[in-house]
Amino acid sequence: MGRQYLKEVTGLPGLKTAPNMDVSAIVKDVIYSIRKDGDAAVRKYSEKFDKWSPPSFKLSQSEINAAIANCPRQTLDDIEEVQQNVRDFAKAQRNSIKDFEVELRPGVHLGQKNVPIDNVGAYIPGGRYPLLASAHMTILTAKVAGVKNVIGCTPPINGKVPNSTVAAMHLAGADEIFIVGGVQAVAAMAVGTETIQKVDFLAGPGNAFVAEGKRQLFGEVGIDLFAGPTEILVLADETADAFTVATDLISQAEHGPDTPAVLITTCPKVGRDTIEIVERLLYNSDLSTASVAKTSWDAFGEVIVVDTMGEMWELGNQYASEHVQIFTRSPRDALEHLTSYGALFLGEKTCVSFGDKVIGTNHVLPTRTTSRYTGGLWVGKYLKTCTYQEVTSEQASGDLGRLCGRAARAENFEAHARSGDLRASKYKKDQIQW
Ligand code: NAD
Repeated sequence: MGRQYLKEVTGLPGLKTAPNMDVSAIVKDVIYSIRKDGDAAVRKYSEKFDKWSPPSFKLSQSEINAAIANCPRQTLDDIEEVQQNVRDFAKAQRNSIKDFEVELRPGVHLGQKNVPIDNVGAYIPGGRYPLLASAHMTILTAKVAGVKNVIGCTPPINGKVPNSTVAAMHLAGADEIFIVGGVQAVAAMAVGTETIQKVDFLAGPGNAFVAEGKRQLFGEVGIDLFAGPTEILVLADETADAFTVATDLISQAEHGPDTPAVLITTCPKVGRDTIEIVERLLYNSDLSTASVAKTSWDAFGEVIVVDTMGEMWELGNQYASEHVQIFTRSPRDALEHLTSYGALFLGEKTCVSFGDKVIGTNHVLPTRTTSRYTGGLWVGKYLKTCTYQEVTSEQASGDLGRLCGRAARAENFEAHARSGDLRASKYKKDQIQW
């Protein structure tokens, strides 16, 4: 029958990777100003974009205590329960990373150590919603990796300190907390100002401005990945329940106005029913976030019917979506067929919302097809895999010296060659002529 598009994207192309030029230009200006004017520029842009200009962007211990005291007990208990899940999974991941040493040839010892980064800046988004779960994902994971110093920035919400986000940042182990948002936050942490120290590495998700800021700052600091505006892809066969598919598509569409929510299915009825239910839920319900979700669905919602499961997996890999939910007879087949995704959600008993908020896997995930070359944030991103070597036998050092002399001269590196010659002379008694 051939591929059918029951609902097509009307906004930007679904597989967009290039940065938006307007966003790039704004971000470039902000970074330039912060590099030049430090705290004064942070204040200028914070006033401009967030109408926020407190006496100090850094929260004192008493302000942190006050924020925590203003949180409902249940919220604090829930933060602790979720953080336990995130901590347990991150510890399991940490335990899977091994230092090792091998004696490659007699007397030649090569090894590697995984060393935590010293200083990390975590961005916890919060322009639209208090994304307190991002505090667990960035700060807590860095602490499990062994990062000594983690500073965190999050924007104000409606001109106020976001209490629950501050509580989550504190409980996750943040060493300093600043109420600053957007590019001004990531730029300040990357280049350093009078009050915000320069970090070695930026982590955390954010909107298009934050993601573009990290892209422009990369190199001067490390970054975790491009975790921009979220996206969801559902892959479904005829066994899928269209109401569940529709509910889960909307759950991501509410994130922001630029959220691709895509269904690829082998079953035309599942496709048609999903569109009908999504539109009913968005246009005739009391969903408080319906207007944002509607904007996303209208511009970026897609429903595609394919002929075979093979075509479904292939197209799924091309989308390389951040979140992929599998509603098929054998959901675990996806582990074999899919190679590009941020996180997989197998079967209808789980969902992206579990991953976003509670289950323990990290929700900072690659967007805009970047899952073609990276997975999401995890303890390993906060570790530097560093190698070392030792040669303990004279025989091995002399042999390597001769090899090094020849190999280096083939590249016209005469001084390198002489380092090799010296070992060959010391341990093999080779004559050297310099
Ligand atoms: P945010 O904290 O990322 O951005 C808010 C900041 O954007 C504000 O503080 C402001 O300074 C800045 N800003 C707003 N308009 C601007 C403009 N015109 N020019 C310059 N700066 C401007 O919060 P948000 O906007 O709510 O976005 C959060 C994003 O994080 C969403 O897109 C969500 O999908 C995404 N997210 C992604 C992941 C992931 O892993 N990929 C995870 C969670 C959230």
